[in-house]
Amino acid sequence: MEKTTPEKITIGSEVGIKVNCSMCQKEGTTDQFVTLQGNKGQSIYLCPECKEKTNQAFEDETRNPNILLSIVVGAIAAAIGGVVWYFVAIGTGTEIGYISLGLGYIVGFGVYLGAGKKRGHQLQIISALIVVVAIIVIEKFIFDHFLNEYTQNNPAEFPDFPVGQSISISFFEPEFWKSFVSPIGLLIYAIGIYLAYKFPKPRKI
Ligand SMILES: [Zn+2]
Repeated sequence: MEKTTPEKITIGSEVGIKVNCSMCQKEGTTDQFVTLQGNKGQSIYLCPECKEKTNQAFEDETRNPNILLSIVVGAIAAAIGGVVWYFVAIGTGTEIGYISLGLGYIVGFGVYLGAGKKRGHQLQIISALIVVVAIIVIEKFIFDHFLNEYTQNNPAEFPDFPVGQSISISFFEPEFWKSFVSPIGLLIYAIGIYLAYKFPKPRKI
């Protein structure tokens, strides 16, 4: 007759393991508690009451965001990121698309902070839009820089341009859009915009 060992039932499965709630230390089992992944990869256990409390706190995070300040701080973050981007681009002569990932992240953080450490769908849209506008404005500054550099260095090719006076590309000029719109570029921008969109996303367990 075969012997069944009780260990066999639980080995390889987390069901029914005795744990303590990470918040209130109450004892329970993993089938009653919710198990979460901590940021260091460790397991966090929450009893149903603490889960409820946490979700309540997460919901409070979406209440009464300061929309105006979220736009202001998000725009300041975009300006800081933009200045870095601009100087890296004109300094190296190449576009380093990955900077747009950093831009997306700090704008998202700025929007979250400006809103009063709030999250919400509205803030997500604001955050993403700031990054879209920032990318276009930054690209225009970079385009103008190289345009001016070229015309100043090659005055013979542009006899009609006043020497020493700076010129600027129009947003309606297809050359401007062609200069930075490429499949890889768009993908990297999209990730940057996504990071900004994701940052103020409401949390829920
Ligand atoms: Zn608890």
